[in-house]
Amino acid sequence: MVKCNFCERSAVYINPISKIAYCKKHFVEYFERKVRKTLRKYNMLREEERIVVATSGGKDSLSLLHILVRLARKNPKWKITAVLIDEGISGYREKTVENLVKYAEIHGVDYVIASFKDYIGMTLDEIVSESFKKNLPYMPCSYCGVFRRYVLNKVAHELKATVIATAHNMDDVVQTYLMNIISNSWERVSTLTPVRDSESGEFIRRIKPFYEIPEKESALYALLNNLVKPEFTQCPYVKYNIRSTIRKMLNELEDRYPGVKYGLLRSLQTVIPLLKDHLKGRDRYKCVVCGEFSSQKICRACLYKIQLGLVKTEEIRHVVDLAERDKNIAELLKLYKNNSTSD
Ligand code: SF4
Ligand code: ZN
Repeated sequence: MVKCNFCERSAVYINPISKIAYCKKHFVEYFERKVRKTLRKYNMLREEERIVVATSGGKDSLSLLHILVRLARKNPKWKITAVLIDEGISGYREKTVENLVKYAEIHGVDYVIASFKDYIGMTLDEIVSESFKKNLPYMPCSYCGVFRRYVLNKVAHELKATVIATAHNMDDVVQTYLMNIISNSWERVSTLTPVRDSESGEFIRRIKPFYEIPEKESALYALLNNLVKPEFTQCPYVKYNIRSTIRKMLNELEDRYPGVKYGLLRSLQTVIPLLKDHLKGRDRYKCVVCGEFSSQKICRACLYKIQLGLVKTEEIRHVVDLAERDKNIAELLKLYKNNSTSD
């Protein structure tokens, strides 16, 4: 039995890099200290905030909600609302919804559940089947990622949020980094920062308080605080996503060479400022369909909706009219007929 480095109790966690062992009490203290340090280091939260916590009801997002709720007790000017986006994945999402509702009721936290069905017009299961029927080239996770961001933004605007906190941990960030290198998406790499702010008010500030926290630690924090049951539920569409392969590969590398993920995070933080310089001055547009800011004249959510037949006839007419006068819009509509992208 390994003992905690700070007391006589048995250890529940040994940090693979520092080799320091922690009992339950000292692990919780270590974890919360690390998150507070990240919040301070990147100036993530101000004195007065309306915080939307993007919560899937899984271990990472409930850990984030729990720690922010605890911190909010000392920061009475923080108002927290948990927002769960229900994509409509049968047999999967129902279980995590239960976790959030249970947590929110016990701890008196405000929450909102917003569904794809209400905000997009179809559940993800319906979207996948429609996409298959129409022979569209996109994977379920592409729709899921794009529409989840779209709905989260809409709800955050409705709630007049000043900041959106997401539970992306270090593992998520470095996986996304590798995925974007593979797809040569450097603009997306440049967005993998702990804070995304918009001076011009284009979008609500986004923060990732777990940016430097390994997934193992946020999962353990959730289990030790009884936030989730120790059971494993997996999205049925995960097999279509390259992320699961990259995740497995990175975990194997980390087991053999502890510190690989931190190394990648440092590499990402070196490359982002260089990319930002390189990408400076790129055009930003307001989507001609929904008005959200985007790197294209029609945002991806609206392009997907157009293809799936989810945009109202008068709006389609408006886009087609614009396409007759605007080469970019015409190209975009054509491109999205043939091209494939993934989240
Ligand atoms: Fe969405 Fe893909 Fe994650 Fe499932 S695996 S929840 S479809 S992003
Ligand atoms: Zn749009």
